[in-house]
Amino acid sequence: MSLPRYDHFINGARVPPASGDYFDTENPYTGEVWAHIARGNAADVDAAVAAAKAAFEGPWGGLTATRRGQLLRRLADLVIEHAPRLAEIEQRDNGKLSSEVVAQVRYMGEYFHYYAGLADKVESKVIPTDKPGVFTFTRYEAKGVVAIITPWNSPLTLTSWKLAPALAAGCVAVVKPSEFTSASMLEFAALFEQAGFPPGVVNVVTGFGAEVGEPLVAHPDVAHIGFTGGELAGKRIYEAAARNLKTVTLELGGKSPNIIFDDADLDQAVKGVVSGIFAASGQSCQAGSRVLVQESIHDELIRRLVEFVGTAKLGDPTRPDTQIGPIATRPQFEKVLDYIRIAREEGARCVLGGKARPDLGAGQFIEPTIFTGVDNRMRIAQEEVFGPVLCIIPFKDEADAIRIGNDILYGLAGAVWTRSLHRALYVTERLKAGTVWVNNYRATSFTTPFGGYKRSGIGRESGSDAIHEYLDTKSVWIST
Ligand code: NAD
Repeated sequence: MSLPRYDHFINGARVPPASGDYFDTENPYTGEVWAHIARGNAADVDAAVAAAKAAFEGPWGGLTATRRGQLLRRLADLVIEHAPRLAEIEQRDNGKLSSEVVAQVRYMGEYFHYYAGLADKVESKVIPTDKPGVFTFTRYEAKGVVAIITPWNSPLTLTSWKLAPALAAGCVAVVKPSEFTSASMLEFAALFEQAGFPPGVVNVVTGFGAEVGEPLVAHPDVAHIGFTGGELAGKRIYEAAARNLKTVTLELGGKSPNIIFDDADLDQAVKGVVSGIFAASGQSCQAGSRVLVQESIHDELIRRLVEFVGTAKLGDPTRPDTQIGPIATRPQFEKVLDYIRIAREEGARCVLGGKARPDLGAGQFIEPTIFTGVDNRMRIAQEEVFGPVLCIIPFKDEADAIRIGNDILYGLAGAVWTRSLHRALYVTERLKAGTVWVNNYRATSFTTPFGGYKRSGIGRESGSDAIHEYLDTKSVWIST
């Protein structure tokens, strides 16, 4: 039986790669190749950027903001309607639990609804000035062609975080999905046609970072880059953008502290710790991968965590009773195992898991793993593992928790578990992180900005301000 073959999506049409080459995409649970994906290069990027530019200067640029909102609303409805199918494709590529992916894709529809509503609510300002005889106001104008480059962990969601505000702002886009998870974006692209978007507004070029990502970032007609992924690629993109003074939104890694005080509701905190690190098998930028626990409850927390997580069911991610699925890619699987070895060499004590499970699926499973006896200066505490590996670090008091929490190059998120409002606010104010949760973990919304301090990124996604990542400000002076 021949496998499905996915071409690029350029100017509203399926376009074979200029190279004529395709690469395989695999199901990480079964290990089977299930589709072939167009292997793009600079020529495909040129075609996609030209199509986007033509749409921007032509039919899309001529639409009112209200009309853009209407099209986005129609798209949002289509996303919700097609969520099961999109989720199935995405799940096949990255091995996440079906339940997680379906919920994520449905919610992505809500994202588009939110930005559909914002499209015609970006209001200019009339500005009183110190100069006589003038009337001055601002205009917010779409930047133009935006490059959207995304990773494999939540491909459609992370694309929507960029695409929805970009389109609401009036921009056009060329999307480069991860080479590990391209198919869902290509299926999603078909919905733009159905929703009635003019051709060229959204284009998708698939392939590898060096062959598609780099020429896309360097392209002179690309005005802004929206990127989520690893720090290494993020830095390369930032450097390349700097060469042409392009703007960027970078959403990079994290090593977020999940801080548990001795006055916390421990039942709730345990659930928060577990979902914080083990949801999506830990392959999430906001994972609560460092648990900081007050010394007096250290042993009790570990006892409860080991008991709770020890029964987690690993296996087929499409089954509703599975709690932990496979690692999404082979390189990531190797990387997580490397970190488990490093943690042991550093002297951390593995109290749960710590092994691969070759007996499950195609063997790309790693047990949920908990390390105690971790010093915050160890590599296992400092570096992003992006897998189901938790380190537990004791602390004495608030000052100690804040010091350890901030003793990290990252600053994406963090959480505080306590019944004291004063303590919650005191610690929240002092944590250097873009998101702080109090007595919960991992909540995000289209209404609320998300992004990183320090090495976790630049700019913010979600929320009404995110639309300004895709807008330039023009001041207009009129003599009266
Ligand atoms: P990556 O950063 O290597 O790749 C992300 C995207 O960038 C992919 O589409 C890739 O093809 C592209 N890319 C790579 N190099 C590029 C370049 N020089 N120019 C333009 N585009 C380029 O991430 P990954 O391979 O998906 O995962 C690697 C690591 O990134 C993971 O181990 C994890 O630590 C981290 N990660 C972070 C997040 C997050 O949400 N912050 C998500 C996924 C992965």
